[in-house]
Amino acid sequence: MKREEIVMLCTSDLGGQVRGKGFPARDYETRLRKGIGWTPTNSMITAHGPIAPSPWGPFGDTVLVPDPDTHVRVDFGPDHAAENFIMGDICLLDGTPWPVCPRSFLKRVVAALEERHGLCVRAAFEHEFIYDGVDERPNASYALDAFRRQDLFAETYLGALQQAGLELDTFMPEYGPMQYEVTVGPAVGLKAADQAVAVRETARAVATRLGGRVSFTPILRPDAVGNGVHVHFSLFEAGTGQPVNHDPDHKDGLSDTAGAFISGILAKMPSITALTAASTISYLRLTPNRWSAAYNNLGYRDREAGVRICPVFAGNGADISRQYHFEFRAADAAASPYLVLGAILASGLHGLDRGLPIAQVCEGAPQSLPARDLERLGITRLPQSLDAALDLFEADADMDGMIGAELKQAYLAHKRFEASLMRDLSDEDQCSRYRAAY
Ligand code: GLU
Ligand code: MG
Repeated sequence: MKREEIVMLCTSDLGGQVRGKGFPARDYETRLRKGIGWTPTNSMITAHGPIAPSPWGPFGDTVLVPDPDTHVRVDFGPDHAAENFIMGDICLLDGTPWPVCPRSFLKRVVAALEERHGLCVRAAFEHEFIYDGVDERPNASYALDAFRRQDLFAETYLGALQQAGLELDTFMPEYGPMQYEVTVGPAVGLKAADQAVAVRETARAVATRLGGRVSFTPILRPDAVGNGVHVHFSLFEAGTGQPVNHDPDHKDGLSDTAGAFISGILAKMPSITALTAASTISYLRLTPNRWSAAYNNLGYRDREAGVRICPVFAGNGADISRQYHFEFRAADAAASPYLVLGAILASGLHGLDRGLPIAQVCEGAPQSLPARDLERLGITRLPQSLDAALDLFEADADMDGMIGAELKQAYLAHKRFEASLMRDLSDEDQCSRYRAAY
């Protein structure tokens, strides 16, 4: 039987879902120029199916314009379709970015960071997920047995990532039941988020071909540990490529530049969790004693800090300034990587624009500190529901210039509707819905 390959041209949308339209692979060159028509209201399709009230209704036209740098093609042999997709920007008909496009939002912030401060970011996403090709057993944490039981998944995944041009850093059985973690090497700016999309979609592609499924749901069950997305990042000078994060004379090693950037992120973390932890059940994960993040604190090697200063290996004359970096822990995969990285960078940019002072490291767990210490350190509990996070996000106008009114309004309408769909369900039922949707 004759087969013809199809390329899916996609966007990672407001709900972090990858959606798009397919075209014959032989039309690739033409489609790079022409793109494919896309409907504004598609942005209001929630992860659970129903469409949030749309400001556009049935009206309007946009175009998905592919970026050839994001093309992923993975051969799965004669018995399966190849995986073949490419990411695009949602543009207006004149080719300018549609203000609601998540990828274009990240591009705006990356450009502003360079224009205003001469800085670029290098970032790597760590993704935790559930693989249902193994059965649930107690005490699988980091276990060789849990690695073995996933059988062909990891090797096929590594091969697929290589075909997709991605370099696997680590793959491991994580703490939770059926939970695994994957990290690829860092990339600069937009590319880091493109890679995050490709890493998740390639995991889905492999699991599907093996007859199973992966889920990047923020938390499997209310009593489980979460599936976090931890974003590692560092800044460097656009002109010289020199890292600017480390100052050996500062007690915790922070340079003034990194200090202002991190203080911006800490100040905005309560409102941007609406973008980085974008599901109702994300807030079951963002609770103390779960190794996620529950406060907007800066931690030194603390795996429950909102932002963690990561360890450096000082042996063998290694250059600390090149290793010294940070990790944002209050994100999960219910959010588009473009919105996650865009929100982190927009917050950091806010800190740089204001020249915020370097924040103090929080010693110990914030939940056990007296209220006056938290106040002195400027530490607050992160919002405890998606609705609360959305209210904070709406009220915070500091980054409106970067986000734009149309994206902000569309996002709020989308997510408030999603929260209303979950309102009458138990936590367990919400977890089941998100597991199926992500
Ligand atoms: N599973 C934890 C989370 O929800 C993270 C564990 C770790 O430090 O890797 O973020
Ligand atoms: Mg982990």
